[in-house]
Amino acid sequence: MTDSRFQPDEWKIIETRFEPERGRDSESIFALGNGMMGQRANFEETYSGDTLQGTYVAGIYYPDKTMVGWWKNGYPEYFAKVPNAPSWTGIRVTVDGEELDLATCTVRSFSRELDMRRGVLTRTFTAVMPSGRVAEVTAVRFLSMSEPERAAIKYSVRLSGRSGTAVITPWLNADVHNEDANYEEKFWENESAETDGIKAAVVARTRKTAFTVATAMVNSFNVNGKPAGETAVMEKTAMTASAIFTTKYSDGDTIEVYKYVAVLSSFNHPVEGLAASAMASAAGAASKGFEAMLGAHTEAWQKKWEHGDIVIKGDIAAQQGIRFNIFQLNQTYTGDDPRLNIGPKGFTGEKYGGSTYWDTEAFVFPFYLSTADTHVARNLLLYRYKHLRKAIENAQKLGIGGGAALYPMVTMNGEECHNEWEITFEEIHRNGAIAYAIFNYIRHTGDQDYLAEYGLEVLIAISRFWARRCNWSQEKNQYVILGVTGPNEYENNVNNNWYTNTLAQWTLRYTVDSLSWLRNESSIKYNSVVARTGLDPECELNLWLEIINNIYLPVHYDLGIFLQQDGFMDKVQQTVDDLDPAERPLNQHWSWDRILRSVFIKQADVLQGIYFFEDEFDEETIKRNFDFYEPRCVHESSLSASIHAILAARLRDTDRAYKLYLRTARLDLDDYNREVKDGLHITSMAGTWLAIVEGFGGMRVYSDRVCFNPVIPDAWDSYSFIIRYRNNPLRVEVNSSSVTVINLSDTVIPLAVYGNRTETAPGETKKFERS
Ligand code: BGC
Repeated sequence: MTDSRFQPDEWKIIETRFEPERGRDSESIFALGNGMMGQRANFEETYSGDTLQGTYVAGIYYPDKTMVGWWKNGYPEYFAKVPNAPSWTGIRVTVDGEELDLATCTVRSFSRELDMRRGVLTRTFTAVMPSGRVAEVTAVRFLSMSEPERAAIKYSVRLSGRSGTAVITPWLNADVHNEDANYEEKFWENESAETDGIKAAVVARTRKTAFTVATAMVNSFNVNGKPAGETAVMEKTAMTASAIFTTKYSDGDTIEVYKYVAVLSSFNHPVEGLAASAMASAAGAASKGFEAMLGAHTEAWQKKWEHGDIVIKGDIAAQQGIRFNIFQLNQTYTGDDPRLNIGPKGFTGEKYGGSTYWDTEAFVFPFYLSTADTHVARNLLLYRYKHLRKAIENAQKLGIGGGAALYPMVTMNGEECHNEWEITFEEIHRNGAIAYAIFNYIRHTGDQDYLAEYGLEVLIAISRFWARRCNWSQEKNQYVILGVTGPNEYENNVNNNWYTNTLAQWTLRYTVDSLSWLRNESSIKYNSVVARTGLDPECELNLWLEIINNIYLPVHYDLGIFLQQDGFMDKVQQTVDDLDPAERPLNQHWSWDRILRSVFIKQADVLQGIYFFEDEFDEETIKRNFDFYEPRCVHESSLSASIHAILAARLRDTDRAYKLYLRTARLDLDDYNREVKDGLHITSMAGTWLAIVEGFGGMRVYSDRVCFNPVIPDAWDSYSFIIRYRNNPLRVEVNSSSVTVINLSDTVIPLAVYGNRTETAPGETKKFERS
């Protein structure tokens, strides 16, 4: 399928060459994480070549002072960045005083293997050191999925060519920096380094936010498979701790170190005694042992795959691609803590600050909704609920009061930290995606109580925002929303972006309907919501209804399409086929001014709205809009192709859907955008999952049933996926002649396949002909 650097394999990502010029790319691709922490695949031994060092701890951020050329009122003071945290992977190797460093050695063989089934990274190499000594290394590491504050490395080095003295030094280092620091500031200050005879820890605290992280290690050493006689000498400086193990070696000896690590942060623990707790946890890991830890970790991964694997037969590159995406999503977020979220680069790089974007609700949310227990999606909603007060303050800063909420474009703690006016102030559609996620959650899970407990407070505040952000146009005799940026960021300050206006109208309607449902359901709960929000049902709801009925939605009647915004047809009408391929991507070749004036669209905009509200449009309308907008879209956001793929599949244009799908499936593995060095596109990985499940699988969830309308790309023999409906798992298998639905739950599940309404009993396998 592709000309990939990585061998085709269903479960593994395998690299077989040492390519220092692509070192950063591989550090991203082979990154590990477990929801609590993550790291780029930096080498254990010293590496003096090019590298982006990256160790990240969930929930911890640093408010890096905003850097802008021209300050605008309302800009946030800082951009929240996930700091590169104290590093714990290091194991220094010196042989008779000579440093093992792949940048100075002749690398005879090198391979790296990420086993996605087990979440284990293995690297092996044979290196000839400048002196002629040969080191054969195997390094195995994992970040425990079952004990997320722990990790372990097994590092073995076989030395040949001579005999002499080897020194192996596992270390911890809090003297780290972020490459993307705006003012080259250090994000951490050191608290302490501690060692006793066996354990060591470094403790560091973020400046300004005062998050404390204690990173501890306990090591054990073997020589030729037997516990070493010598013990390591512990050393520390203000910011580092090392366990220096010195041993005589003879030709062919193998020295092995087991490094057990614990990373504890004040996000989850009291600061007092943090170093001691981290050291105790590392010691606990050591007494459990590498194999036992690995066993529990592998079992936890197995459960994740049981709940969320996608199997593609007949296209190994596609299989590898989708598993890589699912694997990375599960490494980034496990959903147990409503204070955490999913940054566009997860734990794989610095760019985007690791903060939360609208990506979560618009793209990633359905993945967790369908592959994990209900509480995971609920926690993602609660994340926004907890930020409601800040969102109300944010709207106030922009001059919109009355309890209206504008959720931030980018955030770590609920405060806005994006600072480009056209996005910060204008890309307000993000509010709508947050409302939509509440609706999506309820239709999937049936958890209507969420509305009364939390959801309506958010919906009311967002509705208030829309009601105050729109204005009555005398000219149009309708409500309009002026000065916005839609999902297409290649246009700013537009009036009446169809997507934004549609979302505003939909949110207002959903809020009004939900309130009336609750009033019928329970007057006590309804009154409680009214009291908590200070809602004036008479006055506010009347205004909302008036807006719902009179909001302007731009339409081009002759073409029968929704207009992306006022004036869209004044642009020179071209399609992507008219572009010189040498000028793409446009954002790297054209001036910004030229991009803004052009008709070219960065990512789904009108089509994003059609995707959300598909049931409101007939087939012909969807097709006309798709045929008009898709050829104008340059897909220069990684989030774009998946939405287009879903709509193409919906229109039964399987070939087009497949071509679009291919753009997302191996985006990072094959580095289409030449930027994987900065980190992976975690949020768009969920789009790939959507393209299969909602695209090819045609899954749609309604309040009374789950529906499938599968198509299958010619290139595939079959595919299958597992989803949850009302928290009950179902497996759907599709091949060229049939669709099989297997009810893996102990509940009767109502469903429809190609419009045939039926139900499936617990354990039942139901087969349908493909249509
Ligand atoms: C996209 C945004 C997205 C951001 C982070 C941008 O390129 O246009 O929609 O939120 O990336 O993924």
